[in-house]
Amino acid sequence: MTAVGVPAPPTVPRAVHDAAVAELVAQYRAVPAGERVRLGKKTSNLFRFGAGPAQARRLDTTPFTGVIEVDPVTRTAQVQGMATYEHLVDVTLAHGLMPLVVPQLKTITLGGAVTGLGIESTSFRHGLPHESVREMDVLLPGGDLVTVTPDGEHADLFAGFANSYATLGYALRLVIDLQPVATHVRLEHRRVPTGELAAVIREACASDADFVDGVVFTRDEQYLTLGYFTDDPGPVSDYTGQQVFYRSVRERTVDYLTVHDYLWRWDTDWFWCSAALGAQHPLVRRIWPGRLRRSDVYRRIVALDRRTRFSGRVRTLLRQPQEEPVIQDVEIPVDRLPEFLDAFQRDVGIEPVWLCPLRLRGRSTWPLYPMAADELYVNVGFWSTVPEIPGDPEGHNRRVEELVAELGGHKSLYSTVHYDEPEFWEHYNGPAYRLLKERYDPDGRLPDLYSKVTGRT
Ligand SMILES: Cc1cc2nc3c(=O)[nH]c(=O)nc-3n(C[C@H](O)[C@H](O)[C@H](O)COP(=O)(O)OP(=O)(O)OC[C@H]3O[C@@H](n4cnc5c(N)ncnc54)[C@H](O)[C@@H]3O)c2cc1C
Repeated sequence: MTAVGVPAPPTVPRAVHDAAVAELVAQYRAVPAGERVRLGKKTSNLFRFGAGPAQARRLDTTPFTGVIEVDPVTRTAQVQGMATYEHLVDVTLAHGLMPLVVPQLKTITLGGAVTGLGIESTSFRHGLPHESVREMDVLLPGGDLVTVTPDGEHADLFAGFANSYATLGYALRLVIDLQPVATHVRLEHRRVPTGELAAVIREACASDADFVDGVVFTRDEQYLTLGYFTDDPGPVSDYTGQQVFYRSVRERTVDYLTVHDYLWRWDTDWFWCSAALGAQHPLVRRIWPGRLRRSDVYRRIVALDRRTRFSGRVRTLLRQPQEEPVIQDVEIPVDRLPEFLDAFQRDVGIEPVWLCPLRLRGRSTWPLYPMAADELYVNVGFWSTVPEIPGDPEGHNRRVEELVAELGGHKSLYSTVHYDEPEFWEHYNGPAYRLLKERYDPDGRLPDLYSKVTGRT
């Protein structure tokens, strides 16, 4: 038993990892040069259904889902590239430690969060997951394996890996920083007057809080939640059963969760998105098995619906308008946040939305996701559908992209992308990407980033 009272799950011996790498490299090199490859993962948190080459050879990544070692002295973990955060957290919590940033969805993997960006309520202090990487072993498109660090021979790849979405290589082993935890988190939910939102976020991020995030229920009803590590909790809540976490934000002012339950507070109901699948209806919730109230289960249901176009067909039958999915996370400089929320509610109209402040961890900037050092941004997350604009089925998503550009923000690429190519490269540093592609993938074995994220391969 350990600092937080859970047994440590088994780790993967380094020799076993090395043998798996040798096997994967051989498998990769055996693929004929003209054939596309892709990572064969059991889960995904991308929201671009059907994108990607249909005829790609899948690389089996099952042997890369473990943790190799946790070093409590240096507070680092050596982790395989496709380990999920759920597993990684189980291993590190057993040592009284956690990654500096733990994305909220249990099946997000370390490699996915580093190459596809992740964020959580510690990001105002610790930046994004790729900023706590010390070194990575990357399988390059040409079949070589290299170790990349912030200042070694491959420092350009280290910096360019963030937001490259597996178009520059695959991370097979990563060394990341960890931080110590207490057993519980004390949460304070504060209602924020609309006009004071940006100032209150700034203040919270300058305070001694360990965690900061928030929810906008309506433009007149918004809350910021500050979390503090504590070993001395009051009565502890549980939102893995009949209660739903996001509702508690407006119902309580103070709450306590175990550190484990805090980290996964948004997973049980996929923020609030499980409501669309009926999982928050009291009768359905009682019969929906607790172990299946998880984001990956909901995502599989949505993926099936998208593949079969079931709900679209039902709407056609009922002569209802089609819906446009608007599933995006965007980063807006904090002072422009009120403008974004006003325009977003007027032109798109999705509620609630999630707020999560973030600031780069250090002075380094990241070429393919050019955020400014020292600027406080707020991630705004919205995941829903709205009635299509007649004749313009991508209209709301385009509006989001316009707003982000107008306000000096950035848009994550895990979901649909609607920019045309010149516009895309303007936002995501085309010249830097081309240099990386020339050095690390001169033969074009892996797809180009624009083709990959738009599905236009
Ligand atoms: C509704 C919704 C809400 C979200 N909210 C959040 C949030 O609040 N916080 C947050 O952090 N993220 C959030 N995400 C985004 C998520 O973090 C990213 O989509 C992330 O890239 C997913 O990682 P994954 O491990 O599931 O990777 P996948 O979905 O499997 O893959 C993502 C990309 O990474 C590549 N990749 C995966 N592993 C590796 C590797 N080892 N080496 C190189 N490339 C690799 C894949 O090829 C793919 O291009 C959200 C996504 C959705 C759909």
